[in-house]
Amino acid sequence: MPGKLLEGKSVALKIKENIKLEVGSLKTKYGLSPKLVSMQVGENPASEIYIKSQEKTARDLGIDYELKKLPSDINQDEFIKAIESLNKDKSVNGIIIQMPLPQHIDAKLISRYLSPLKDIEAVHPQNMGEIVFGTAKILPCTAAACMELLNSIDLLELYGKEAVVVGHSEIVGKPLALLLLNKFVTTTVCHIATGKRGTLPEFVKKAEILIVAVGKAGIVKGEWVKEGAIVIDVGINRVEGKIVGDVEFERAVEKASYITPVPGGVGPLTVTILMRNVVEAFKQQQGV
Ligand code: NAD
Repeated sequence: MPGKLLEGKSVALKIKENIKLEVGSLKTKYGLSPKLVSMQVGENPASEIYIKSQEKTARDLGIDYELKKLPSDINQDEFIKAIESLNKDKSVNGIIIQMPLPQHIDAKLISRYLSPLKDIEAVHPQNMGEIVFGTAKILPCTAAACMELLNSIDLLELYGKEAVVVGHSEIVGKPLALLLLNKFVTTTVCHIATGKRGTLPEFVKKAEILIVAVGKAGIVKGEWVKEGAIVIDVGINRVEGKIVGDVEFERAVEKASYITPVPGGVGPLTVTILMRNVVEAFKQQQGV
């Protein structure tokens, strides 16, 4: 029997209902709506899609949204000043910096200038540290989306399960591994060197929970998937005009117990988690 589809949309809908209710009661209590400001440097067709989806989701949920466009030749110091001015602005609760930034701006350095209280993507080192401690209230959106998909599986007991995360980026693989560890999941992280050594299939074959975030179409063969595994495919790749994931879906779906489709799996959830983070930031700033 093929695996059940883990679709992000239905999980996102439930979270959105809660956000709407919470935004409503915050408005009643404080007379204010949470506000998100998105900073975009120059024009980038890839980020336009994300910006539109952020704006629409925010508006649907009663969250104020502002897009702050900055010229592509803004220098790093000026950009930092723009961030610091939003940090000080009491009407702004969450700040997102659209990636990619032009080459002359150091994204890692920039993340240190965001107020940790307004860093709704959890890219500031302080917020990353909270994840290590297991005390984070604002979680990196994609990693948190993967955890929500796991939580949506009825009767799934994470404690003691064996997971393999393929990909160790700062935005997905690394924080996700920590979130799994915080739930006492025995977690192995594979990355480019695992691929080069040729041992990726061995690790994948052992995974009860397999999460892949690489960005290479079909890098994980369906054949490698353990019988009954839960498979979350974060990858987004454009192949011959179609969006596909990192896992060879057709064969993997026959072996998995649950599997995310691409598109339609993790993607629809990430922007919802971003909005949940804006509401959380608002509450923290109000001292709730
Ligand atoms: P990244 O380029 O920062 O990281 C890629 C990771 O893959 C690295 O850790 C690297 O070590 C690993 N890797 C590369 N080649 C490998 C190999 N041969 N074997 C094993 N590991 C290998 O990418 P990212 O930003 O983490 O994104 C990964 C993918 O997830 C991309 O396709 C991206 O578009 C997608 N993504 C989706 C969402 C979403 O909302 N669905 C959000 C963020 C990223």
